Amino acid sequence: MVETVMLGKCVKCGNCCRETNFIVGKPTEDEIKLWMLKGFRIRQLDNGDTLVTVIAPCKHLLPDNTCAIYENRPEYCKKWPTLEDVPFIPASCGFHYGWRK
Ligand code: SF4
Ligand code: SF4
Repeated sequence: MVETVMLGKCVKCGNCCRETNFIVGKPTEDEIKLWMLKGFRIRQLDNGDTLVTVIAPCKHLLPDNTCAIYENRPEYCKKWPTLEDVPFIPASCGFHYGWRK
């Protein structure tokens, strides 16, 4: 059986701390309006789910692209990029999707 896996390693480009994508299922119109008002980018995916893109550098990102709170960073940051929650990774990222038998 072929399994989808995440390959590669972090090359410290810092872009996952500047722009983050996550899928939020099927939100209400009011929720979508709220995200748009906050400046988030919203995109409808082919399967009907909604993709929200947050464009804002994290306040903990240091000029050398390291994390100021690395030991205590949120769980989401520790898991990033996961196959389940992160549909798109920045082009600059050292990780990429692959397959394993
Ligand atoms: S907490 Fe650290 S790892 Fe998480 S987004 Fe911010 S800078 Fe990046
Ligand atoms: S986008 Fe990828 S390579 Fe860049 S800092 Fe994040 S995990 Fe590392």
